[in-house]
Amino acid sequence: MKTASLSAIGEILKKANNIALAAHVNPDGDALGSVLGLGMLLEKLGKTAYMFIDDDIPQQFMFMPNVRNIKKPSLDTILQTDLLVILDASDCERVGRVCQHIKTPLIVNLDHHISNNGFADILFLDVQAAATSEIIFNLVKEMGIDIDRDMAVVLYTGIVTDCGFFRYANTTPLTLRIAAELLETGIQPNEISDFIETQTIETLRILPKVLNTLEFYLDGRLASISISTDLYKDDMDGDVFVKYPRYIEGVEVALLFKGVSERETRVSMRSRDLDVSRVAMEFGGGGHVKAAGCTVSGAIPVAKDKIIASLTKHLGVAD
Ligand code: 5GP
Ligand code: MN
Repeated sequence: MKTASLSAIGEILKKANNIALAAHVNPDGDALGSVLGLGMLLEKLGKTAYMFIDDDIPQQFMFMPNVRNIKKPSLDTILQTDLLVILDASDCERVGRVCQHIKTPLIVNLDHHISNNGFADILFLDVQAAATSEIIFNLVKEMGIDIDRDMAVVLYTGIVTDCGFFRYANTTPLTLRIAAELLETGIQPNEISDFIETQTIETLRILPKVLNTLEFYLDGRLASISISTDLYKDDMDGDVFVKYPRYIEGVEVALLFKGVSERETRVSMRSRDLDVSRVAMEFGGGGHVKAAGCTVSGAIPVAKDKIIASLTKHLGVAD
């Protein structure tokens, strides 16, 4: 693995003609915004871009321009490209089966996760960036490309979803300057936030059941909620749920357990100070200091025991 500057990444893009783009499974606004934004940049450069995400796209992001051009990788065919750019993903497993579908001499990774394991041939990692979409914005500027409204919509969506509409600790003066420049194209922040925040009636109906599972550990320093396997749906937006335990007085780490099956539980962690990316990495996951996730084998109670034991250790509490 080699690291490269954004201008060097720009040169690599200019040299390639057929370019595949991919982002992580369970796509969020930033995964989509960075893929769509780079796809638009490549189109402006006259390149052929193929966009892949190995998952369904949540309904609330279907307003994003070009989103229907993102495909799931086909398992029956191999696509030969000059380059594969992996966005917003810190390890290879995060992009699902994309790598099985694409044959390429070079993999470039643009990312902002502290847990990045350097899996690609060439890495541009900026852990200060609030979103990978922020990195794409900088790349677009670096390459002297104009930002039109469609590009502004996708990049703005990526940025606001990852920084919680400028509330989280990853929000920097630069984040706000970039957002301001994107808004200058004439896009409407209220329209974008309406799309992102609008939930299905189904989600609202299960919310009370999920909140009913609220439990506390370590004298209220940890709070957890769970979505049982019978209520769990693949394209659920975990942020809708995890914000509740996150904002309880005295809670240092909030946990959301999603019962994918009796054999598998997805975990979302949100912290005030503790570096939860390290806890997630212990279980093969990753993320950011204050927001991380992983998949743990076993049903929810088994996963809960494992995660709470690890957090107990990381918080320096004796068992
Ligand atoms: P969430 O809890 O919303 O699923 O994820 C929080 C953060 O952790 C996001 O930045 C997400 O990309 C990252 N993350 C979640 N699950 C995983 C995982 O299984 N592996 C890695 N590498 N990162 C993850
Ligand atoms: Mn991101």
